[in-house]
Amino acid sequence: MLPEVAAVPYRIVAMETHDIRFPTSRERAGSDAMNPDPDYSASYVVLRTDDGAEGHGFAFTIGRGNDVQTAAIRALEPYVLGRDAEDMGARYREMIGDSQLRWLGPEKGVMHMAVGAVVNALWDLKARRAGLPLWLLLAEMSPEQLVELLDLRYLSDALTRQDALDILRAAEPGRADRIERLRRHGYPAYATSPGWLGYSDDKLRRLCAQALADGFPMIKLKVGADLGDDRRRLRIAREVCGPGFPIAIDANQRWDVGAAIAWVRELAEFDPWWVEEPTSPDDVLGHAEIARAIAPIRVATGEHVQNRVIFKQMLRAGALGVLQLDAARVGGVNENLAILLLAAKHGVPVCPHAGGVGLCELVQHLAMFDFVAVSGSTENRMIEYVEHLHEHFVDPVVIKNGAYAAPGAPGFSAAMRPESIAQYTWRTT
Ligand SMILES: [Mg+2]
Repeated sequence: MLPEVAAVPYRIVAMETHDIRFPTSRERAGSDAMNPDPDYSASYVVLRTDDGAEGHGFAFTIGRGNDVQTAAIRALEPYVLGRDAEDMGARYREMIGDSQLRWLGPEKGVMHMAVGAVVNALWDLKARRAGLPLWLLLAEMSPEQLVELLDLRYLSDALTRQDALDILRAAEPGRADRIERLRRHGYPAYATSPGWLGYSDDKLRRLCAQALADGFPMIKLKVGADLGDDRRRLRIAREVCGPGFPIAIDANQRWDVGAAIAWVRELAEFDPWWVEEPTSPDDVLGHAEIARAIAPIRVATGEHVQNRVIFKQMLRAGALGVLQLDAARVGGVNENLAILLLAAKHGVPVCPHAGGVGLCELVQHLAMFDFVAVSGSTENRMIEYVEHLHEHFVDPVVIKNGAYAAPGAPGFSAAMRPESIAQYTWRTT
């Protein structure tokens, strides 16, 4: 049974879902060592209130997963109908606390991503009603209000409520200056678009040069399918970018632990900035072993890390040099706040995963909030940038001089254009 809700200024009266799929596999955009033919897709949810407001959210999948993902989102309808987005700590905890749905995880996989989509839609609604972009809504909350949003269960050996308050209070001085800096300079971005595995050498060379010309401070290449190809492609990228320019590599979970260590050693002469997803995202000890073996090259992971508890273990085990949270993998904004605080407590920089459908649009808000109110720094921090599908969004990201411009429109930048929803809604015949 859901708890009764006190009198609220408005109520959510409708939840729509849309199964949206873009045929990206035709161009091999998004291709990597594990995912040769992704059709970038969104299981999309719209919440409507009795006073005419809306909240938009989505889970990102790469195609047929949408069948399952959209059904999972629908299962959460009882948690939003008749309710509001005012007490977001309560809304989030109710959803992850449904014991029958929780059995499917707990707090992992399709059901947890569905919670994330709905929680994020509620945040979009709340920020629109406040007339603020989400990053600023969060950045103007007090440390006490922010801590009330968290679920710190299973984290107390690494992050207590007092730790969270201490981190947030320590970052309070200077918040206003950092908001101004974001509005003036944006938040650094790096470019993944040059390095898809399915691209030709000529296209790689051209896109590396373009990324440099556009002012990106880092690029990333997909690796892990063929060592000879990886060495050739990294040599090309290094030639174009020059010595010392940060070039990260991403194996998308391709290797076992021993293979990861051996393969990365073969690529070490090209000076990779980090090695991303070297092995299974569930293998905490494996990541730690790889991190020790390939140091000082850092291990980065997070886009498939299923919840805050795995991140806690990764951080405590020294398995991560870079934490790549994802806006639509875990239980939405609330859980990502806990993950940002865990990273800050362990002194690990957060470089969010983006790309997909709308992940750049979402995650910029979390990184900007982190800069203003948690870490207070952009040193060694960048948000991934992938150059596709932004045209389908009402409030698409804006990249200037290799940085994300701070969003100004109210909300979470999650809303897709109605004509795109109509055109790319998946229809089985
Ligand atoms: Mg990746």
